[in-house]
Amino acid sequence: MIAEVIVDVSAYPIDRPFDYVVPAHLEVVIEAGCRVKVPFGPRKVLGYVTGLKEESGLESGKLKSIHELIDLEPVISGELLDLSRWLATQTLAYEIDALQVMLPAAMRAKYEKFIVVEEPESIEEVDFLRFLAGRQRVPLAEADTPELLRSVRRYAGQGIITVDTVVNQKTAVKKVRMIQIAEADILQNVLDTIHANAKKQAELLRWMLERAGQTVSAKQLMEQSGIQPAVLKAAIERGAASEAYAEVYREPEAPQLKDTAIPMELTGEQQLALDAITTSADHGQAETFLLHGVTGSGKTEVYLRAINHVLEQGKEAIVLVPEISLTPQMTSRFKERFGPLVAVMHSGLSAGEKYDEWRKIKRGEVKVVVGARSAIFAPFENIGIIILDEEHESTYKQEDTPRYHARDVAIKRSEYYGCPVILGSATPSLESYARASKDVYTLLTLKRRAKDQELPTVTVVDMREELKTGNRSMFSVSLADAVRERLHRGEQTVLFLNKRGFSSFVLCRDCGTVVECPNCDISLTYHRANEMLKCHYCGHEERVPLVCPECESEYIRFFGTGTQKAQEEIAKLFPEARVIRMDVDTTRQKGSHERLLRQFSEGQADILLGTQMIAKGLDFPNITLVGVLAADTTLHLADFRAAEKTFQLMTQVSGRAGRHELPGEVFIQTYTPEHYAIDLAKAQHYEPFYNLEMAARRQYGYPPFYYVTLVQFTHEDLLKVADFADKGTRFLKGNLSSNTVIIGPTASAISRVNNRYRYQCLIKYKKEPKLIETLQQLIKYYRTDWIKAGLTMTVDMEPASIY
Ligand code: ADP
Ligand code: ZN
Ligand code: ZN
Repeated sequence: MIAEVIVDVSAYPIDRPFDYVVPAHLEVVIEAGCRVKVPFGPRKVLGYVTGLKEESGLESGKLKSIHELIDLEPVISGELLDLSRWLATQTLAYEIDALQVMLPAAMRAKYEKFIVVEEPESIEEVDFLRFLAGRQRVPLAEADTPELLRSVRRYAGQGIITVDTVVNQKTAVKKVRMIQIAEADILQNVLDTIHANAKKQAELLRWMLERAGQTVSAKQLMEQSGIQPAVLKAAIERGAASEAYAEVYREPEAPQLKDTAIPMELTGEQQLALDAITTSADHGQAETFLLHGVTGSGKTEVYLRAINHVLEQGKEAIVLVPEISLTPQMTSRFKERFGPLVAVMHSGLSAGEKYDEWRKIKRGEVKVVVGARSAIFAPFENIGIIILDEEHESTYKQEDTPRYHARDVAIKRSEYYGCPVILGSATPSLESYARASKDVYTLLTLKRRAKDQELPTVTVVDMREELKTGNRSMFSVSLADAVRERLHRGEQTVLFLNKRGFSSFVLCRDCGTVVECPNCDISLTYHRANEMLKCHYCGHEERVPLVCPECESEYIRFFGTGTQKAQEEIAKLFPEARVIRMDVDTTRQKGSHERLLRQFSEGQADILLGTQMIAKGLDFPNITLVGVLAADTTLHLADFRAAEKTFQLMTQVSGRAGRHELPGEVFIQTYTPEHYAIDLAKAQHYEPFYNLEMAARRQYGYPPFYYVTLVQFTHEDLLKVADFADKGTRFLKGNLSSNTVIIGPTASAISRVNNRYRYQCLIKYKKEPKLIETLQQLIKYYRTDWIKAGLTMTVDMEPASIY
């Protein structure tokens, strides 16, 4: 028997399965989807069996054998194996990357290298002998000086030592030590025979007598009986108990169930949407629905009912939410309704916890998974529905290889299972809404809020006018008044800034110089806490200069509207207000996100100040005011999606106010109030925005009228990168059809990151049958040749941004 194996050797120029002989004793157990250890060149590497066959095209004498079978049952199902092939082709990724993305990180290979001493008598270097200390096998990592490494290389060259590579599994199953207490008569016997001085021993035995025949964890036993491990050990040796290790799951969080689990009566709109979805599910159709509902219209309730429907048919559900919406508030709604049937997958879990959740899914112990992007690969085998909440979010697109979009994967999986996909949003992506208007997707609309509350009143404040009247603060007079009113009434305010330190850079007021990163062509961000300037691309840090590096003026200072600066202004304007700040800096620690939100929901603060991480999911009854401090920051990005992103953010943020009994009010501060993205977000008027934005996209030839593919080149040498970019672009122009527009090569908008120059080429097309094939050829040149010259090249079939 021959196995086709994809090996875990990234960046190897040949991306295809290799044939290996299956040893006779493994023939009955090996299956496609199992992991194996195989020899590859001089090493042993991890591989995935993707197929089995009788014969190889190669001479059997030349084939190597599988070294070890890691899984006795496939970890990747047939459906997911096919999906990985499709994914590799569609995103132009290595097959190995497409396979690895389906599994939790804990199951991916890690290598450890060992020095194996073959001829100890031939080693004469004293330092090296001292290092080996008589050992025959030494982890290579211990040879951590250049001298030692030089010796390693020399002795390895002479065959005196060899270097062995061992594949290591990162995380094993978590096991807990369990103590099985003996029956009462045995315990009594032991108690009778022990020495009179063994007081602790007697104490433990009496404690055990009360629990004869029970099983407890060793940890529990020691906590409750208050004895030391040695005492327990002695008791076990005397036969009073036996020990064993039991497999357990790491519990990510203790579920706290409320009794709001009783479903409420649906509104007419919700019922219509639900009926359409369940009818489709009952017919086994792979239908994609776009659920367009204003903020607070009760989309989540529709999801919950639809899931319930498919669970009753014995099927499973995948729910994707953007990482930042994976708040306890959101996940608890699913846990309340479906209890222990829910697994939650988010980046806050440790590798071990993620692996545990994955195993629960694989074993069918849970039926619903709520998770971020990668949960789309949940190893269910009878999927009844797939839901993407906030479908417009750019986090559904993976930026690293394989550069997939979760929506495309969802639709692909739904075709296999014949089940519906629901894309939900208050502000659908233009792509999805355009597909819905062409009946590729089925449009379902929720126009009213579930409890019939009014949408909040939105006021757009022209900050240019504020400047004219001499107000240089970040707060307009009207927003400041509104905040004071809330403080007075004991209601809560949410203040929103687009990005962490987005525009807080250091600027010379005399010559206009902005301090930039020496490695990247981008301005450094000012961090007040430690008076440092930081680069968010490469991590470079430096002190704030005292004089301008260009003109030596002393009038060099920070300029901008970061969250830290906002916090200081709030302290000045509203000294009595209690403020919680939420941004990347204050939520770095595990659990801090949840803690801050809980404090706010418990009324421990009057104002919540934050970045986009607070734009979603917040649903607190006491929030009656939302202020956007600077709406323009996303508008000026060099990105064709800038207006769309601004509209989405404004709508989402506004949706946080007045979701319950108290009416809400929203202030949007901007320097460009006339821009349609801001003007139309005011009334949550999606359709007019869609129409205007579509006209702009048509005019400039952007998605959804054209597809775009971005090819990016980076190199340390500016001339080399320009040269390769030129070569690549010419190859594309020569091979793609004449209707396809190829823009470039051009320097990228951020033209240098981490000392590597960046060039790019943009392909715009409507129909290009030769695209994949041509790009594959280009990638082949790159992998076999160009890469050796120090170039990196990436291809992104549906870039989230193009700069
Ligand atoms: P969306 O996801 O569309 O923003 P949610 O599902 O969060 O909206 O619903 C908004 C609020 O309305 C929630 O507090 C929810 O409990 C409530 N809600 C949803 N559906 C109903 C209903 N049919 N009757 C009463 N309240 C509802
Ligand atoms: Zn200057
Ligand atoms: Zn940098």
